[in-house]
Amino acid sequence: MSPKKGGAMAARELDQVGEAFDERQLAAEIEKLKGSYLECRTLGHAWKIQYMGPVTRSDMELASRARHHPWNPDGARILRCTRCRTERVDLCLVGYGRRAYGYRLVARYYRYADDYKVEGANNHREMLHEELFRRQSEKGTK
Ligand SMILES: [Zn+2]
Repeated sequence: MSPKKGGAMAARELDQVGEAFDERQLAAEIEKLKGSYLECRTLGHAWKIQYMGPVTRSDMELASRARHHPWNPDGARILRCTRCRTERVDLCLVGYGRRAYGYRLVARYYRYADDYKVEGANNHREMLHEELFRRQSEKGTK
């Protein structure tokens, strides 16, 4: 964290990518972030396989993305985080129709809960880590 925090400096600063941001406002939003979201954003997701197999039409978003992808991926892998419920969707070429199981990842996207994202937080990951430390310290040591 910058040593300016909490000082008399103007809250509006430039971040590492040169965009103006309000550090206090971002800190306030991070403070409201659910504990599970904060852990995932700092430690990474805890993935568990939800589905692995052919692209089916039952998942309409996935089927549509596969259909419109130039490489026609035929396999899908959906992972769900056991902590925050975010889903990671991988579209792959696995050769199901030809009984030739290769593997090539061709696209990946995520499905987040609406309140998971905090604008500007990805440019200030140190603030997320700082908040995690603060919350853990408040819990006390056991
Ligand atoms: Zn997660």
